[in-house]
Amino acid sequence: MIGLISATAAGAAARDRLAAAWPDRTRVYEGPVGDAVRAAFAQCEQLVCFLATGAVVRLVAPLLAGKTADPGVVCVDEGGRFAVSLVGGHAGGANELAREVGELLGAEPVVTTATDAVDLPGLDTLGLPVEGDVAGVSRALLDGEAVALRAEVAWPLPPLPVAAEGSYTIRLTDRLVETSEREVVLRPPSLVVGVGASKGAPVEEVLGLIEDALREAGLAAASVAELATVDAKTGEPGLVEAARRLGVPLVTYSAGELAAVDVPNPSDAPLAAVGTPSVAEAAALLRGGELLVPKRKSAARPAMATCAVVRRPGRGRLAVVGLGPGARDLITPRAKAELRRASVLVGLDQYVDQIRDLLRPGTRILESGLGAEEERARTAVEEARKGQAVALIGSGDAGVYAMASPALAEASDDIDVAGVPGVTAALAAGAILGAPLGHDHVSISLSDLHTPWEVIERRVRAAAEADLVVTFYNPRSRGRHWQLPKALGILAEHRAPTTPVGVVRNASRPDESARLTTLTALDPATVDMMTVVTVGNTATREIAGRMVTPRGYRWQEEPE
Ligand code: SAH
Repeated sequence: MIGLISATAAGAAARDRLAAAWPDRTRVYEGPVGDAVRAAFAQCEQLVCFLATGAVVRLVAPLLAGKTADPGVVCVDEGGRFAVSLVGGHAGGANELAREVGELLGAEPVVTTATDAVDLPGLDTLGLPVEGDVAGVSRALLDGEAVALRAEVAWPLPPLPVAAEGSYTIRLTDRLVETSEREVVLRPPSLVVGVGASKGAPVEEVLGLIEDALREAGLAAASVAELATVDAKTGEPGLVEAARRLGVPLVTYSAGELAAVDVPNPSDAPLAAVGTPSVAEAAALLRGGELLVPKRKSAARPAMATCAVVRRPGRGRLAVVGLGPGARDLITPRAKAELRRASVLVGLDQYVDQIRDLLRPGTRILESGLGAEEERARTAVEEARKGQAVALIGSGDAGVYAMASPALAEASDDIDVAGVPGVTAALAAGAILGAPLGHDHVSISLSDLHTPWEVIERRVRAAAEADLVVTFYNPRSRGRHWQLPKALGILAEHRAPTTPVGVVRNASRPDESARLTTLTALDPATVDMMTVVTVGNTATREIAGRMVTPRGYRWQEEPE
């Protein structure tokens, strides 16, 4: 919950805009400002104060408890020009909140925590538990000193400006290690603990068993990602409470799923009780990985709990990101977020140039020239398989005549895949031309590189007969001249010579140009590979210089 506090009429107006935009996330605190701030501080995860920073500093100072406990506090000035992240930039989420509030109110977000100011992810914001000299290593990253990353486990991390050697170290490990000066340890959620329990097993016995097993194997509890057991134990209080205290979910599998797992130490007792020869080992191993601690029983007599520990492989992440047609403001916020999250970027050199400044320092860039599509796709998938966070970029929408399909054809289910849609050329061109796509439409690529001409021609003919609006991608290149006139000829067999045709070159790029012509007047020489050509259907008209395809044919009398 976000507490909102204001003192003046202008502040109250801005406050009400936030409250209206986020009805479920916000709560307005009325009354004397001091009391309101104190109440909100005690009750909310975050505060937005429409007050001077000085006033808020004085009010919250006596309430501050520590970086991890304090709510995030954002101040918005009287003029609504700035959203200042005042307290709890990282752990309290105030930096992110300042950005969100800024976006909503049209205010400039002001963020002063060092790592954000120079665009490095804070070591405590990577979403992984972190131990050791966080301040020292963060300072070294900021000062540009050599910091080495020692990853004992492959895990997808955002980009960090790290070197092969350095006097500072970031260790990524699930093992218990002595941290030294100038070193931080990041804990990947790589351990799965399989647990079995008799009815009524006390939580202390379950937790004690898990803690002993981890300690004796030299493993860190902070790396435990989940407890896993059999369905029948979903509500077993000792297990539920053990998971709660460890701060991890309790996941469960059916006896049938568990019985199918090959385990080193099956036994008859669970087979009789729950129908599988193994609970702890099978549940831990079900998603794959390496068995680090085979089944062991608790020390109590009779022993009421068993556990086993598995290290699961890190799952890499492949984001397939469409950059839009060219203009910076047609890149979606989600695409930008994915670019900043990836530690490896794969793409065509000219697209990489388009977004290089959006990347975080330390991003590894694998760029290649035209024509290397399959190799790019393969590289991206290989990097993700190594456990990296990878972004594969393409112009427009990455799924339209672009990288998404060759990449997904390579990608097995051992990586996570995220697609980010982009504004494809047909849409960018449509918006420039008017409303040519107001009714059913189709895109056809005239490139016969991957498709035989007979197939392309058959599709053009079908579109012509079905009276679909057609957008031609890859309409004409230096070596391909006759295809566009041929395709237009086929359409002309079914449409009037005066049918509007829009030709848009470099949509949304600095040298954008657009022309509206007709099926017979179009000069193919004005078309090249930077162009899309949109041909109207039999109802498409030119109205006030714009290409308009009516939404419904008049005789259909459909409601709008
Ligand atoms: N994935 C891209 C399409 C790649 S195919 C997308 O979704 O837009 C390449 C073809 O797309 C080009 O030959 C051209 O026909 C078209 N194209 C891409 N960007 C364009 C732009 N900004 N303006 C006009 N046409 C464009």
